[in-house]
Amino acid sequence: NETINKIAAGEVIVRPISVIKELVENAIDAESTRISVAVEKGGKTSICVTDNGVGIAYNEVPLAFKRHATSKILKIEDLESIDTLGFRGEALSSISAIARVRITTKTAEEEIGSQSFFEGGTFINQRVCTYDRGTEIMVTDLFYNTPARQKHLQKDKNEEKLIRDILEKLSLSHPEISFTYSSDGREVFKTLGTGNLKDVIESLYGRDFFKGLRELDVENSPMRLRGYISDLTLTRSTREEQIFFINNRFVKNKSLSRAFEDAYEGYMMVHKHPVGIVFMDLPGRMLDVNIHPAKTEIQILNESLVSILFKQGIRDCLKAQNLVVDV
Ligand code: ADP
Ligand code: MG
Repeated sequence: NETINKIAAGEVIVRPISVIKELVENAIDAESTRISVAVEKGGKTSICVTDNGVGIAYNEVPLAFKRHATSKILKIEDLESIDTLGFRGEALSSISAIARVRITTKTAEEEIGSQSFFEGGTFINQRVCTYDRGTEIMVTDLFYNTPARQKHLQKDKNEEKLIRDILEKLSLSHPEISFTYSSDGREVFKTLGTGNLKDVIESLYGRDFFKGLRELDVENSPMRLRGYISDLTLTRSTREEQIFFINNRFVKNKSLSRAFEDAYEGYMMVHKHPVGIVFMDLPGRMLDVNIHPAKTEIQILNESLVSILFKQGIRDCLKAQNLVVDV
């Protein structure tokens, strides 16, 4: 059983961001309004995720770390539901199979909280302790018992950059949650949790970022687009600042990037790649939700249609702005 867990863990937990993504998604599912993430050495030494969500009751902690244990109803009707699928009850068991885990938690109904330890897939012990409502999960010594996996990790700095990237995306798609991220004892960013996308962008990239952006809010039925896009002055030599979400889930998709850039064709720009933080709403039937849980990519069923709708929507927004066209 321990071996099975280790194999399953290897499939889904490949680096620190895999742990962080799962723990933060659990915290989001737990109705938290404040989530903080602290890592040391790019997550290799420790990862700590703290939330103020519903917590886990004393008796249910060991169960939550069992494989295929989930308290969530699996409903694959539309894309929204994919957000609560997580690892289908595999995340906590997978993480505890390849690291040391300490969980401190308390529900609103309990008088007192609990602290439990897991190591290499084994439940070590549990005791009661005082704690505010919510959950703190501390993961240390990631991959201590799977040296092959450990060898594949990148330099601390690179792992840290990946963590920052994914936390930025999670923060952007949840403006209603206040995220704090610190690395090696230093606060990297903190979002306010006001529910306003603009506030999140300002917390992440600074107020000056908006100087080169225009607000996007167009409907090209059945697609709706919201967010901020480059007004031509803010362009980059890479696509790193093209951040797209479909139904509030981050997507990395070459056709969408191409469609986005095609919309800028004929405009005067210094660099090739315009910047954009774009939230796209689409009917669930246009997407495929049957993807591997470890993947972030969403399958768009009719990619060329979606790309055309996207390009037209962005183009409409640009046209309405009277921007300088190439002659
Ligand atoms: P899944 O998210 O697919 O249900 P996980 O292994 O990620 O599976 O989590 C197992 C269970 O542990 C969840 O269903 C949930 O009941 C509980 N849980 C995990 N993290 C938290 C959290 N931060 N707050 C409250 N409950 C949690
Ligand atoms: Mg989960």
